[in-house]
Amino acid sequence: MTYPIVAGKPLLQLPDKLTRLGELAYNFWWTWNQEAGDLFRQLAPSLWETTGQNPVLMLGTISQWRLQELANDKGFLSNLEHVCRKFDEYMGNEQTWYKRTYGTTGETCTAYFSAEFGLTGCLPIYSGGLGVLAGDHLKSASDLGLPLVGVGLLYQEGYFHQCLRRDGRQSELYPSNDFHNIPIQLQRQEDGSPLIIEVGYSTHQVTIQVWHAQVGHVPLFLLDANLVANSAQDRQITNRLYGGDLNMRLCQEIVLGIGGIRALNAMGIQPTVCHMNEGHAAFAALERIRITMSQNHLSFAEARGLVSVSNIFTTHTTVLAGIDEFPPGLVDKHLCDYYSLLGLSCDEFLALGRRNPTDESEPFCMPVLAFRLSTQANGVSKLHGEVSRRLWQNIWTDLSEEEVPITSVTNGIHLRSWISGNTTGSLFDQYLGKHWRDDPSNVSIWQKIDNIPAEELWQAHEQCRERLVMVVRQRLRAQLRQQGAPPDEIRMADKALDPKTLTIGLARRFAEYKRPTLILHDPERLQRILTNRDHPVQIIFAGKAHPDDKIGKKLIQQIVHFTRRKGLYYQIAFIEDYDMTLARYLVQGVDIWLNTPRRPLEACGTSGMKAAANGVLNVSVLDGWWPEIYQPDIGWAIGCGEVYKDAKYQDEVESQAIYDILEREVIPLFYNRDNDNLPQNWIKRMKSTMQAICPRFNTDRMVREYYEHFYTPAIEQYKHLTTDG
Ligand SMILES: *Cc1c(COP(=O)(O)O)cnc(C)c1O
Repeated sequence: MTYPIVAGKPLLQLPDKLTRLGELAYNFWWTWNQEAGDLFRQLAPSLWETTGQNPVLMLGTISQWRLQELANDKGFLSNLEHVCRKFDEYMGNEQTWYKRTYGTTGETCTAYFSAEFGLTGCLPIYSGGLGVLAGDHLKSASDLGLPLVGVGLLYQEGYFHQCLRRDGRQSELYPSNDFHNIPIQLQRQEDGSPLIIEVGYSTHQVTIQVWHAQVGHVPLFLLDANLVANSAQDRQITNRLYGGDLNMRLCQEIVLGIGGIRALNAMGIQPTVCHMNEGHAAFAALERIRITMSQNHLSFAEARGLVSVSNIFTTHTTVLAGIDEFPPGLVDKHLCDYYSLLGLSCDEFLALGRRNPTDESEPFCMPVLAFRLSTQANGVSKLHGEVSRRLWQNIWTDLSEEEVPITSVTNGIHLRSWISGNTTGSLFDQYLGKHWRDDPSNVSIWQKIDNIPAEELWQAHEQCRERLVMVVRQRLRAQLRQQGAPPDEIRMADKALDPKTLTIGLARRFAEYKRPTLILHDPERLQRILTNRDHPVQIIFAGKAHPDDKIGKKLIQQIVHFTRRKGLYYQIAFIEDYDMTLARYLVQGVDIWLNTPRRPLEACGTSGMKAAANGVLNVSVLDGWWPEIYQPDIGWAIGCGEVYKDAKYQDEVESQAIYDILEREVIPLFYNRDNDNLPQNWIKRMKSTMQAICPRFNTDRMVREYYEHFYTPAIEQYKHLTTDG
């Protein structure tokens, strides 16, 4: 299937010899292609950083003088040519996995819906793991050559920027995104006018425009309600990710699901398969049913049968408190006219979102709607599959827990986006060959890690740690300056952390179940560990708490207070505004990645995979993905997978376990050096970690699993049911 591509108006004024830079800037391919990223950096290194690694903004603000200089720079031009050749090869690849396996026959298209997408720092429309996973899904779909499109919302203010006050309190900033200066373009119609669609609420219509982000081969369509045609209130619908009240959330989900399908239809795309990443997008299933009914003169039940076989629903929740539910009155307010379009009464409609369809007191639950309208549903790790079957069993009252039709596909990461390209990645190129990039699930390729000399691997890693320490100092300085700290203290930031010291990273959303402060449980013991004169340890923390999450915010404060302890200033840092850019430095540069969720509440977790792919060792509770791979030669397990009734007691036991692991195993292993000052046994573990984790916990494997187990049967079922009209 071909997609309507944005009418090619020249958006950037570039000298002739540099015109292709514009093309590169507007395809997120550069985010996982080291050479392309380096090319932009080379253009203007400091501007690259100050624009937040945003090539469009950079090309829009760079001086004409500098551009002319580059247009005459033979070295730069030959780099540009090289990157363009790579880009053309990638875009024209006729040998993708999909083409080799399925050929080019059949007009199929999968639409992947998500409320957030994390592609890179300069498109801030994600909050955490769910969004980064969605972004990595698109990148791997592109690598594999799948006919897939993404659908999401374009938030005017995105997710908030975190700013910490002196006392550790979090404040939230909402700078407005300038859509014309990020690598997206308005989706236009053939006549050049912007594509506009309407989404109806019972009282009125909302006008939506569509933006197009190109991710390699995969288009991502982002819906935007901030138009003058809409009321002030409606313009807010796509203002903030996870912002506003329930009413706002419901309006957003109507735009995402119903608007998303309408937008695709307006572009001539009728998805064969629809993949809903979390329940936010579940209305897409209803809109597909509505369209199928009206196109084929079918009843709701008939259309539902057809649509359900080709819907896939992935759940990411582990607790009922964390899911989207709406009061029936609210649903009624916005959708009562929609019921009749589906040929349903109010009760019939609301029943679709209730565990017990006849219980009128039940709210309307988006995951329930998604489960009811998807033949295929899955959790995101084996353990989470089990948890989900238990959690949602009451939707299928006639089935036992084992029979509940929720399977699992374990999450992964897009390796090329997360592995440090110019250090570890270039060692891989040298010793594994280039195919680790396009065939990352091939176990035998990763076996060749044995061939990397210990010294070179260690050097590459130490380089990453040094770079991280530099970034941390820079950010601390900026943080302190902005807090109005005294000059002495700002100067102290220049000596914060040490580039040679064993470094622990703990960065995640600050949600209570993740227990980011567990390691502070016994402050005295922790302080002794950190300040050991011969074998010191340092910790870097980062993470945002949702603006309404008082507990999460308290946890941040607790850590900031701890960093102020006497004697710890140089040993511990909290870096504000955790995002993908900071995440990349962290997962590449620390030695230990610490993960302490309360089992079984972490659905999967992906940051530990990013760390492992860079040779960082995990110390983690056996939750989410970790039990699927943990073995003693690749990292450490906190506990044995117990589930506790008494949370206080659990924290006591598990925090002690962390200290024990650090004191008895991690620290000796790290500081036990040979004559060349190499920690040989540590390096062995780095290698085992990468060999075990890279080929399995990547999105290449994950997306193929979705394709083979879910999308393909869905396509076949759909075709089977539609062939004879
Ligand atoms: C990978 C990533 C996450 C997800 O990490 P978890 O292990 O699931 O907590 C969250 N935020 C950012 C910025 C990330 O890059």
